[in-house]
Amino acid sequence: MKSIYSVSRESLEQYFISKKMPKFRATQVFEGLYKQNVNNLFDIKGLKKEVMVMLNEDFFFNKLDIIDKNEAEDGTIKYLYRLADGSLIETVLMVHNYGYSVCVSTQVGCNMGCAFCASGEVKKIRDLTPDEMLLQVKIINDDLKKQDLRVTNVVIMGIGEPFDNYEHVMEFIKIINDDRALEIGARHITVSTCGISSKIYDFASFPYQVNLAISLHFATNIKRSKYMRINNTYSLESIADALKFYYQKTNRRITFEYIMLNGINDSLEDAEELAKFASKFNCYINLIPYNETDNGLKRSSNEQVRKFFDYLKKKNLNVTRRREQGSDIAAACGQLRVNKLKEEL
Ligand code: SF4
Repeated sequence: MKSIYSVSRESLEQYFISKKMPKFRATQVFEGLYKQNVNNLFDIKGLKKEVMVMLNEDFFFNKLDIIDKNEAEDGTIKYLYRLADGSLIETVLMVHNYGYSVCVSTQVGCNMGCAFCASGEVKKIRDLTPDEMLLQVKIINDDLKKQDLRVTNVVIMGIGEPFDNYEHVMEFIKIINDDRALEIGARHITVSTCGISSKIYDFASFPYQVNLAISLHFATNIKRSKYMRINNTYSLESIADALKFYYQKTNRRITFEYIMLNGINDSLEDAEELAKFASKFNCYINLIPYNETDNGLKRSSNEQVRKFFDYLKKKNLNVTRRREQGSDIAAACGQLRVNKLKEEL
């Protein structure tokens, strides 16, 4: 049996075709799941009884339980969900002037081991399935709908490395983008990878106009390998080659994420290295204030961030400073989950 929320409409059409039934049944099911919001397959309008019985034998409804919900002064809400097998994951709702953005987790834990990340403190237990990602968004969207609001943007940069769970993440994107499901525009969806170059080549052929972000954070191999283990496998040169291919194929602008760490990657020499690397691409650079945890790493001062920003601007790069969100609610990626796991020990 499969979770009904884990299949895209395309996959459901294939299911009906394999049962020698018309594929428009898939659209009826999607209308039922995401427009009527049913939680019982027998409640879907317009479906014949025999179809309902068949679906009920092959599919079930998965669910996530909210076990903690912390709201910051700026409106950011951090959700701690418990999955059916007891695992914990985090999802964050951020309020922007352009809409409501949800940051989705893709794995239980993460194996990438980035030194600055609370999620990397706990090794990957398993990949999330498409429905477990979808429900992170749907539950929040259902809440917003009560106030006539909706999720407008999805960023796939929570706990886990999306390209280490590639097939499930792509199926999830198809479902949230579907105009019969959550209707999140492809250009409002961003996937962020720490640099798994081999999957960047695959992603270049994904037929949706989804944005790509690279968690770069360091622009020399020596520093990057020291703080991001993945760089030993996929060096900056291999990322650069993959991005050139991606750009040739898609013509889409890339975003480089750069967390500002005091005394580690925030000098003007670091800015110069970053400018050298980034100027090869049509890109945005997003400077991110670091959410400190107890790992000893500190955020850069406002003054240092300003100097770094000004340097990149002078080099004519598209650079933005991400505003800090949810700092009063353990906002670092994975921090709430790690705190809860420590509590439960
Ligand atoms: S930054 Fe991302 S890829 Fe690195 S350990 Fe954290 S969740 Fe994993």
